[in-house]
Order: sequence, then structure tokens, then C-alpha cells
Amino acid sequence: MIDLLSLTPAAARAALEQWLRARGEPAYRLRQIMPRLWQRPAASWADATDLPAPLRGALEEAFSLHRLSLKVHQVSNDGTQKFLWELGDGEAIESVLIPEGKRRTLCISSQAGCALGCVFCATGRMGFRRNLNAAEIAGQVREVLMRDPALKPTNIVFMGMGEPLLNWDAVDSTLTTLNQPEGLGIGARHITLSTVGILPNLAKFGRRKEQFRLAVSLHAPTPALRRELMPIEKKYALPDLMEALKQFRRRVTLEYVLIGGTNDSLETADQLAKLAKPLEALVNLIPLHPGGAPDLTPSTRAQMLAFERRLKERGVEAVLRRSRGLDISAACGQLRVEIAGPARARGKIRSEEHAHIE
Ligand code: SAH
Ligand code: SF4
Repeated sequence: MIDLLSLTPAAARAALEQWLRARGEPAYRLRQIMPRLWQRPAASWADATDLPAPLRGALEEAFSLHRLSLKVHQVSNDGTQKFLWELGDGEAIESVLIPEGKRRTLCISSQAGCALGCVFCATGRMGFRRNLNAAEIAGQVREVLMRDPALKPTNIVFMGMGEPLLNWDAVDSTLTTLNQPEGLGIGARHITLSTVGILPNLAKFGRRKEQFRLAVSLHAPTPALRRELMPIEKKYALPDLMEALKQFRRRVTLEYVLIGGTNDSLETADQLAKLAKPLEALVNLIPLHPGGAPDLTPSTRAQMLAFERRLKERGVEAVLRRSRGLDISAACGQLRVEIAGPARARGKIRSEEHAHIE
């Protein structure tokens, strides 16, 4: 069985073309089949009723259309939707759909769990489970599209569970599928990869010719403070990361989660400005989602605003993000943790599942 959805659209086309030719099918069959991968996704070959039944049966035997099964669907009162998918082997991952005006941004996962253990992050606390394959990563978009074509994401961010640059081969192929017209057709400028900065693979990402966007999770402007929050600092140190970002050909966004009394002083803002200014980077200030780490507290609203103002005074473009989906804990891996947690938490999810759409 060939897993068509793990292939790039060009590779899937080649595989199908060869197979159709071997069966003596007319050439136009390819034009009927290709759109059922990503453009008008079919739930199964049996659903592709514009094809003759014997051909559907043969496709069923030769090519799998990988599905993710929806376990929990939650809708926040601000319109944010969270999807918890179960994979074939029982692992669970999540995606979050964030509507904002005409935009619909889907935040997708690249791994089940994460090995990097950032102290503020719920996914980090779970530890690493496994890499997702390309069908499981792009499949998150496909599943949303299949539920409702009107929900088709306009923007994709790799800010769900996992570190995309530690799963580079699958992410590399997924970027192609997301972007290609025969895939999901989402413009490269509308696709953002978020990373803590795995330097060898960051260079590979930088070599892609499309204008994919890069967001780097900085969270601290000095190596000492960053080491307290993000163990990866020991392997890929801040000065080397900054050097790599200077080499990066496109404008970079720096992500900065504001943690009360930890990385939110005005002196820290000044240090951050010194890093961001020469890069002409945009700084995204993110209020800490409390679910990630019980012992950390978000900065006060006043401190967040003061931090933002200070960056702007230093000539840095900074945006303080609103928290979205707080009531459904729609940050980085939180739902998975609740489900895997104690029985009481499991009970809670079940009742929520009941109250919501599924
Ligand atoms: N591993 C990659 C991508 C997934 S994390 C990375 O770290 O960049 C996506 C974003 O969610 C990161 O910027 C991360 O710092 C942020 N995040 C994690 N836990 C959070 C929390 N508790 N509150 C707010 N943002 C959080
Ligand atoms: Fe992993 Fe990103 Fe969470 Fe850090 S913030 S533990 S890298 S998912």
C-alpha cells in the first residue's frame, strides 16, 4: 500500500500515473483522482463516486488515504476551535483553528510530544512520544477541510505540539504539500514555521526557495536566562542562533512568552531590543498560558504593556498578542496533557466532549 498523503503532490501524481498506465486506464482519470487528495479531499476511495466502482475498489487496495480520527472538538467563546486527533497507534495530537477577520489560522503539530522540555510548555512536560509523518502533519489541515470546506485555513503555523526542525524530513515534504497548487495551495508567505532554533535544520529551511516565514522562540535575551527556561540553549546557544538569523535571507519574527518576574523587566526588554533591532525582527509578545506550568505566572497586564512600550521606544516593532482560546486551554499540547492526566481530568474532558459539537 502506498500512503499517497505522505508523498508530495508531484510524487503522488507520478505514482498514480504509473499505476493507471499499468492498468490501461485513460489519462483523464488522473485529473479526476488528484483533486481528491487535497483540493476536494475524499474521506475514502469509496467516496470518490465520480469514478467507476471497479477503479475505486482497485485504488482502495493500492493506495491508502490516511485519516486522523477526531477525539475531542472544543469551541471557545472567542471562536477558537481545538481539535484533538487520535493517530493510528493511539497517540494523540492537537490542532487549533483561530479565526480573525477574514483569516483562519490553523496551528498544527509536527510531533506527538516534544523532547525539549521548555519549562513553561505543556507539550514539553509530556516528553517526546514520536515524530509525525507527512500525512499526519498535512492531514490536520485536510481533516479540517473535510469537515467543512468553509473552514479552509488561509494561514498555517507550526506552533502546535513538537519541534518541527527535529522532524525535518517530514516537515520539509509537508511544506511542499501545503504550498503546491495540487496540494493545499496555501501561499508560502502564509505558512510559518516556529522553532527554538535547531541550527543545522534551520539552515536547510533557509535554503528553501519559497518565502515561508520563520518564527523563532527566543523567550530570553541572554544565554543565562534562556538556559533556565529552555534546555536547548545548552546545545544551540543564543549567540550562534543570532548569527544564524543574520544569515537568514528573510525577515524573522521573535516569539517571546512573558513570564511574571522572570523575563519581563524593562532591563530585559532593553537586552531584547539589542538583539531584535539589528535583525529588524518583529517581536511577538505572548501572554503566558497558565496551563503550561503551574509554578509560573503570567506577567501583569501593566507589565506586558510597559515591556511592549519599551521595545517600541528602542525602535523595535513589537506586538502584544491577545490570548486566544483560554477557556479551552488551546495552547501548545495542553489538551493532550489533560487527557493523559489523572482520572478526574479525564472525566472533565468527557463531559466537555458531550457539551460540544461532536
Ligand atoms: N517547538 C516549537 C513550535 C511549537 S511551540 C517552538 O517552540 O517554537 C509554539 C509556541 O508556543 C512557542 O513559541 C512556545 O514558546 C509557545 N508556548 C509554549 N507554551 C506556552 C505557554 N504556556 N504559554 C504561551 N505560549 C506557549
Ligand atoms: Fe517543545 Fe516548543 Fe514546547 Fe519547547 S515550546 S517544549 S520546543 S513544543
